[in-house]
Amino acid sequence: MANATPGKAAILMFGPPGSGKGTVSKVLMARFGTPHVSTGDMLRENVQAGTELGRQAKAIMDSGKLVSDELVNRLADERIRRADCAGGLILDGYPRTIEQGQVLMQLLAELGLEPVVVFLDVDYNIIIRRLTARRSCPKCGAVYNLESKPPKAGGLCEADDTPVAIRDDDREEVIRQRFLNYERQTQPLVDFFAGKVKRFFRVTVGEGSPQENSERVVQTLLNG
Ligand SMILES: [Zn+2]
Repeated sequence: MANATPGKAAILMFGPPGSGKGTVSKVLMARFGTPHVSTGDMLRENVQAGTELGRQAKAIMDSGKLVSDELVNRLADERIRRADCAGGLILDGYPRTIEQGQVLMQLLAELGLEPVVVFLDVDYNIIIRRLTARRSCPKCGAVYNLESKPPKAGGLCEADDTPVAIRDDDREEVIRQRFLNYERQTQPLVDFFAGKVKRFFRVTVGEGSPQENSERVVQTLLNG
């Protein structure tokens, strides 16, 4: 059910790995009927369409380098100016640096869109518990969770009886490193926006399901 976005808002989503940011973004998109704009999608779309920006980005990525702030800003500028964003949008994965944030603030002001920050705050220990409980089937890729969606007795995949395993990505030390990287990168950005936007929501996502957490974010946006 599409609802009016609270104002003509550009909702900036921030949240560490494991916060359910992707799910929350999708729920917001469905509820408010606004497009979900992510850096990954913008890059893929431009590379596939063979645009000038896409060709530049592909050459940089193929050489193993990171796409510059300037190029990401140009991709975002082109995307956010499109007609489907005129009534509001959800931004995910952009901006990623303070320089990108400054450029975005100018663009939103020009387009008459209000920046609204949603920062999904999570308890590190909850993330660790959730992610380290994940198991997957090496054969078919089915994902299980020892707490919420256990495999068959004996730790076997329901589809093909293969013993499920923990993926390297789900090991605690890997998760801890990703979490620390995220904090190091994002905290300065969150601080930057906290001093600049009127509506800045820190939403604590806890033990609930991603759907429950999404609903909490929706209510926060509608009432805040
Ligand atoms: Zn399987």
